[in-house]
Amino acid sequence: MTNFSLEGKSCLVTGGSRGIGRAVAVALARAGADVAITYARSADAAEEVKAEIEALGRRAMAIQADAVDGKRADEVIQQVAKEWERLDVVVNNAGITKDTLIMRMSEEQWDDVITTNLKSVFNYSKAAIRPMMRQRSGSIINVSSVVGISGNAGQTNYAASKAGIIGFTKSLAKEIASRNIRVNAIAPGYIRTEMTGQLSEDVLKAIESSIPMGRSGESDEVADTIVFLASDASRYITGETIRVDGGMAM
Ligand code: NAP
Repeated sequence: MTNFSLEGKSCLVTGGSRGIGRAVAVALARAGADVAITYARSADAAEEVKAEIEALGRRAMAIQADAVDGKRADEVIQQVAKEWERLDVVVNNAGITKDTLIMRMSEEQWDDVITTNLKSVFNYSKAAIRPMMRQRSGSIINVSSVVGISGNAGQTNYAASKAGIIGFTKSLAKEIASRNIRVNAIAPGYIRTEMTGQLSEDVLKAIESSIPMGRSGESDEVADTIVFLASDASRYITGETIRVDGGMAM
């Protein structure tokens, strides 16, 4: 029987204080899950998300943890798995951009984006596998980008991190499929959040006219796909990358 419900599941979303991660955390709770979020700096926003999840009648945690820090990732995963006695879903969402042409890109801009976007996925996936193996089930969902598929001038660091996530996803999916742990990625297109908020109306119009569906996407539209990948409705899907982009990278 098809089952989209997340009732009884314990989930963790990295970078859940704002944007897509926030929408994902609330959507998972709406589908019935208990949800922990991490954040880097936005403590007030994270507390708001926690309150929103609790208002839906679900358990919530807001944990300060820089996703780059592997030791902290172990602690966060252990905290959630211990307090809620299981860990069913990890959404690796935390990410940043530091856009510039490669001629002007500093080593620091390269390293910051690669470690925040890609090493973080290694940190939280590695830590999550232990409790998931014990319970012989789990779903890891990594947030890539259409830029990792198509490339984008001014985003060599970001595109490399997001393409890396797709390769990581397939490799880990092969390693742990026999343990009933699924690993998938999603590749959002142009989604309106603070990350994309600095663009002028003219640039935005030009981007939207290149999208077959003729508009940018909303965080909720990404969140709904993640709820599907978190649920048993997607139980035979692993190693996949699903574009949520209005046809942008087709
Ligand atoms: P956003 O609005 O800037 O939110 C980013 C989130 O990540 C925030 O919650 C932030 O926490 C957290 N974060 C950043 N660095 C972190 C770190 N070192 N440790 C822990 N948390 C950290 O971005 P968004 O647009 O929602 O993007 C979310 C994900 O979707 C990213 O991986 C992004 O690459 C991907 N994506 C976005 C788009 C788009 O069009 N928006 C398209 C494709 C893919 P704080 O609030 O504490 O800073």
